[in-house]
Amino acid sequence: MKLVLIGAPAAGKGTQARRLIDKYNLAYISTGDILREQVSKGTELGLKAKEVMDAGKLVSDELIIAIVKDRLSEDDCKVGYILDGFPRTDVQAQKLDELIGSVDRAIYIKVPDDVLLTRLTARETCPDCGAIYNKISSPSKEAGVCDVCGAKLTQRKDDNMETGLVRLKTFHDTADALIDHYAKQGKLFEVDGLADIDEVTNEIFKNLGE
Ligand SMILES: [Zn+2]
Repeated sequence: MKLVLIGAPAAGKGTQARRLIDKYNLAYISTGDILREQVSKGTELGLKAKEVMDAGKLVSDELIIAIVKDRLSEDDCKVGYILDGFPRTDVQAQKLDELIGSVDRAIYIKVPDDVLLTRLTARETCPDCGAIYNKISSPSKEAGVCDVCGAKLTQRKDDNMETGLVRLKTFHDTADALIDHYAKQGKLFEVDGLADIDEVTNEIFKNLGE
C-alpha cells in the first residue's frame, strides 16, 4: 500500500501516520524527519537545508526528490509506505508518479487555519526522549517538565507565531494544486481533522477498506 498524507503543520498527521503504520505494517517516510536528522548530524545536505527551514520555507524539489528516491529503495518499503511531508507540490506529485507509478490513496486531513495556529504555537517537545506535548490539548502534568523523563521541555524554533503564519501560508500556496492532482486521479480522501482523533482514524481505515 502506497499512501500520501497531506495536511498543514499541526493538522495531526503524525498521530494518524503512526496508526496507519501499525495497522498496515508500512514504512514511514517523513522528509521533515530525514532533513532534521541531517541537520543535527551537520551534513552538507543538513547545512543547506537548515538555513531554508529556519526561515519556515521549503527546500528545493531536486533535493527532496533525491532524498525520497534514496529512501524508497530501502527494504522496509517493499510492503508499502506512507509519505508524510512529500509531495508538497503538484510538480513533486508528478515526479512521484513517474517514480512509483501511482499512489493508492492521498489522505488529506483538513483543519481550519485559526485552529492550526493555536495548536502550532502551543507545542512543546522533550529534547531528551522526544515526547510531544501541547499546552492546550495535551499539557505535561507539571508545566515545562517532561512526564516521561523529567527533562525541561523546549519549543521547536519553527513553532513560534510568526513562523507558524509563514508555514501555513507556504502550505496553502501549494496544497490546493496538490490536492487537485490527486482528486483528478480519483485517489483523494478528505477527512475532517477537527473530529476526535479516534474518529479521524476510523474514517481513514474505513476509506482504505479496513
Ligand atoms: Zn522526556
